[in-house]
Amino acid sequence: MMVIVMEPQAPMDQVSTVLRRLEDSGVTPHMSREGSRVSIGVTAVLPLPEQEALRGMRGVAEVSGVRQPFKLASREFRPHDTVVNVSGVEVGGGRFVLMAGPCAVESEEQVFAAARAARDSGARILRGGAFKPRSSPYAFQGMGLPGLLLLKAAGESVGLPVVTEVLHPEMVGPIAEHSDMLQVGARNMQNFALLEAVGRSDRPVLLKRGMMASIEELLMSAEYVLAAGNSQVVLCERGIRTFETYTRNTLDIAAVAALKQLTHLPVVVDPSHATGRRELILPMSRVAVAAGADGLIIEAHPCPDDALCDGKQSLTPEMLRDVGAALGPLCTALGRSF
Ligand code: PEP
Ligand code: MN
Repeated sequence: MMVIVMEPQAPMDQVSTVLRRLEDSGVTPHMSREGSRVSIGVTAVLPLPEQEALRGMRGVAEVSGVRQPFKLASREFRPHDTVVNVSGVEVGGGRFVLMAGPCAVESEEQVFAAARAARDSGARILRGGAFKPRSSPYAFQGMGLPGLLLLKAAGESVGLPVVTEVLHPEMVGPIAEHSDMLQVGARNMQNFALLEAVGRSDRPVLLKRGMMASIEELLMSAEYVLAAGNSQVVLCERGIRTFETYTRNTLDIAAVAALKQLTHLPVVVDPSHATGRRELILPMSRVAVAAGADGLIIEAHPCPDDALCDGKQSLTPEMLRDVGAALGPLCTALGRSF
């Protein structure tokens, strides 16, 4: 992987000339613009004479290699934070984002009530699973497409975009049609066909860390999406498996701080799957803000004890309001906004 950094004020025709030259030599350029800084990444090692020729072109400031194994995801390629736009809601833009909603869409009544609770808590994105990856084939698998339509309608009723999980590459198109953001779940973090399929989509992607995946593996999975052409990726730390059984997983909070250093992509925390316990969501939400996360994704249900999926970790509407209320002052104290 090589990065060609243009001079700060290089005019567009100089950028185009470089892009054309790269295309003519058979490589696909990935352009990234941050203010006046334009950088162009190519996922190939260019022969030395070609590197020299590029260095001599008008408007080119620098031609260098990226040392990290993840390339387009690295801060070497793009030093400044990426802002992911979810139908008007910016993730990674400095304003902390709360995403909330049920684990699974169960009924019209349930998802509309969950949407109202999400909005009332200050959440700006509604979550909800219509296609659920369950450990048991006998467990509730989600309502499927009818559930997705209910989620979308519930989001519209409160003015929130929706994020929902996609399990199969062939479902990316149909799900993208009725949602604002595609979630790739922990169990699918290394489903490379799925990563490439969401990478070809024009919807932003919420990529969850696999429960046994290293930080580098998470970034390499993000790289699949970026390399396929989709630059709108949000990473999610959702806990990893350890020897501890009191909590469902172990929230790897150091991963949040590490990811913020390694990558320009936004990072959110899912304290629900990380802990499996609703009484731990508020304290872990505070920790997420303090660690530098760009947002939270939290499960909430109008009546968690009746939930068909993940009830023990789901907040009541009142508890979700308390989390939302805690985030404002905390973000302000840390020089952020909510
Ligand atoms: C979910 O968000 O409901 C989910 C299944 O999460 P994960 O993929 O992190 O287990
Ligand atoms: Mn869940």
